[in-house]
Amino acid sequence: MSFDRVRVRIAPSPTGDPHVGTAYVALFNYVFARKHGGDFIIRIEDTDQSRYRASSEDMILRSLKWLGLSWDEGPDVGGKYGPYRQSERREIHAAHAMQLVERGLAYRCFCTAERLDKVRQEQREKGQTTGYDRHCRDLNPADGERRAAAGESFVVRLKMPLVGVTKFDDALRGTVEIDNQRLDDQVLLKSDGYPTYHLANVVDDHLMKISHVMRAEEWISSTPKHVLLYEAFGWEKPVFCHLPLLRNPDHSKISKRKNPTSLLYYERAGVLPEALLNYLGLMGWSFGDNVEIFNVEQMTSRFDLKGIHLGGPIFDQTKLNWLNNQYLQKLSDDRFVALIRDQVFAPDVLKALRPYVVERMDRLEQFVDKNSFFFNGALPYAGVPLVPQGKTAADIVAMLSELVEKLDDLYDWDFEHIKACLDAHREALGWKPKDYFMTVRLVATGRKDSPPLVESLVIIGREIVRFRLRDAMEFVKKL
Ligand code: GLU
Repeated sequence: MSFDRVRVRIAPSPTGDPHVGTAYVALFNYVFARKHGGDFIIRIEDTDQSRYRASSEDMILRSLKWLGLSWDEGPDVGGKYGPYRQSERREIHAAHAMQLVERGLAYRCFCTAERLDKVRQEQREKGQTTGYDRHCRDLNPADGERRAAAGESFVVRLKMPLVGVTKFDDALRGTVEIDNQRLDDQVLLKSDGYPTYHLANVVDDHLMKISHVMRAEEWISSTPKHVLLYEAFGWEKPVFCHLPLLRNPDHSKISKRKNPTSLLYYERAGVLPEALLNYLGLMGWSFGDNVEIFNVEQMTSRFDLKGIHLGGPIFDQTKLNWLNNQYLQKLSDDRFVALIRDQVFAPDVLKALRPYVVERMDRLEQFVDKNSFFFNGALPYAGVPLVPQGKTAADIVAMLSELVEKLDDLYDWDFEHIKACLDAHREALGWKPKDYFMTVRLVATGRKDSPPLVESLVIIGREIVRFRLRDAMEFVKKL
């Protein structure tokens, strides 16, 4: 490897809430860059238009800043290898794909979606592995050019080697190899002119002079494709380093079904950013000497890739709570007061609440007791009649589990969208309004007499509502 400077990046896709896995990978890249006096870069991989969410990029950057991370180059701070948003680099990607076509290393494929479906269907019927049958691989390139010029829609595919193996060295795992026969002729450029993840990722890592690609383990299976792309372009490969995936306590891949994964949740729930970073630093890495409490500078001073172990780190709320408690105990009075005042009793929440709560109060002193659920995380469900008459616990669990999915899919967390979502769900279930809305109210607020339901949900916020729906589901399962 002959990069003269350590340059690492994270490349999040803005498809939803900022994910705790993004923060984890960001921390390790950040520390690695600092350790080697290199650069840490953020590149936004927003070329998958179907999954794109406009607010997501801002939330990701905001959450990483909340954690105390900073970057040398990125969409917000610029840098000399920009733009740092892939959607603004489409021409660069397309030009690179066409370079490979001209050199005979990639080809235009004119197969329609219907043809591809049919091929797959036939392969399935014959019990074969499904994949592209390379129908267009040997088309005459001049014909291809003519058809494209006549306006026929096409994708560009990479010609994968038909025999042999592709190998790469992973800094943590040693040599990884894959039989080339298992690789499909990878699409590089889609028919809408957008690059696929693989093309954009490799072209941008190369042009941004990335020396080490440190990313989550789930990308290992993409790496052979990337290696073949580096080879096709004749470019030097970065060092690959696939970090272990964070896991739920049952060892499955971390997922919001079993663990809150949104950084916004942890912020809302009052986990201190320095505690969360510290906790992420314990995922797959240890400081040594049984030290569990350390800050980023201390982590940097000891950091070495060799210290990363691969045994699936468990992201465990109990341990995180313990660590957060250690940090809370050490807060100065001033910071403690500021956090409770600005974060727990956030002025914008109080203002939003005022119109709904003020008529139910005679004295200010009643405020906390009557409205505690706006500020809590978990609610005590013991004694709360979560299962209305005529329904079973199983009905409630099924209803809540559907609702949590539906609310997760809501693009905007506002009155109109939440209301429409609840109304449609209730109708689809065929529940009486009273049963449905009272159940949602009890789950979300823990009480029968809360302010208007949808308005309350807006204020409580997506993260805490989601958390309570899941928590109530677990509670009802045990009834
Ligand atoms: N866009 C990918 C993601 O969302 C980036 C993977 C990589 O780092 O190469 O995680």
